[in-house]
Amino acid sequence: MKKFDLNRLIRPNIQKLQPYRSARDDFDSGILLDANENSFGSLVPSELELHRYPDPYQNKLRKMVAGFREVKPEQVFMGSGSDEAIDLLIRAVCEPGKDSILITPPTYGMYKVSAGINDNAVISVPLTPAFQLRTEAIFNEVTDATKIIFLCSPNNPTANLLNQDDILEIVERFDGLVVVDEAYIDFSEQPSYAGRVSEYPNLVVLQTLSKAFGMAGARLGIAIASEEVINVILKIKAPYNINKLTAQAGLQALERLDEMKATVHKIYKEKCRLISEFGTFKDIRKVFPSDANFILIQVVNAKELYRKLAANGVIVRYRGDQIHCEETLRVTVGTRDENDALLHNLRQIIS
Ligand code: PMP
Repeated sequence: MKKFDLNRLIRPNIQKLQPYRSARDDFDSGILLDANENSFGSLVPSELELHRYPDPYQNKLRKMVAGFREVKPEQVFMGSGSDEAIDLLIRAVCEPGKDSILITPPTYGMYKVSAGINDNAVISVPLTPAFQLRTEAIFNEVTDATKIIFLCSPNNPTANLLNQDDILEIVERFDGLVVVDEAYIDFSEQPSYAGRVSEYPNLVVLQTLSKAFGMAGARLGIAIASEEVINVILKIKAPYNINKLTAQAGLQALERLDEMKATVHKIYKEKCRLISEFGTFKDIRKVFPSDANFILIQVVNAKELYRKLAANGVIVRYRGDQIHCEETLRVTVGTRDENDALLHNLRQIIS
């Protein structure tokens, strides 16, 4: 196992912090006159007893996720989207105005935004034009103040997996936290890195129910890491960060793994169809390989195509302003009908 001193990394104020103790930490049954709830009940009748606060530690959900990912419940954190985990990790280890994070553009935008909110510098080490990591450049740019490296695999917006050897080299060599964001992992053939958190105490794997599980509206994200790292983010999260409605929906989703896999397969088939249809357009110059539920395409005049599609009610994402993504659009794989509408509109607009 890698040698790693987590305490050296955690901000001193967070180490000293006495976390808020919620009433439900101590008792969750009996005559509950401890939390200033409304004992007369909720205005919205529900078997969930919405007049009572939820479990602050989300033990049922964490157990389900742990079973699914073959880790321990203590190695799992549930957040209001994985965006919450990104924010908490930065606030746990990065001293505002002093420390930095490292990202590898083009990549998901929230790492930079969350660092900005906490007043942390962002070191950018772009991927290669083939969208792979430049490990030596990363280690040249890292300073003593760099506390987290964010990697995203499969990467958004490029849709490709990062090479495993590069990710593991970074996890092994870097003294800070390495976050591997696996929001799209269930669409890829590659196994999750979640199983490796016992081996690498500085590795944090982010996942979400927003994509393959189709639960973006419920807001449920997952961080998987060593028990020590998870305890730090549990200590600083808002006391009741997952509400009962979301928790129940999440539990139901996690009970339907076969359905999730069936949907992933349908999306895969639609993705293959779209990729092959895209190949028939002269104005689609490049279709990048995809291990996710979206496809990055390079077209002639991406901005104009983006605007014309939107005018016809088909909304895709313009990504041409990102490094190595000149003239690109990111297209989410939709249902068969949605994809037909996209293709129909493309045929009308471009050749
Ligand atoms: N990571 C990546 C790479 C994403 O693309 C997204 C959402 N687009 C997220 C994290 C955030 O997901 P959520 O907060 O819905 O869990």
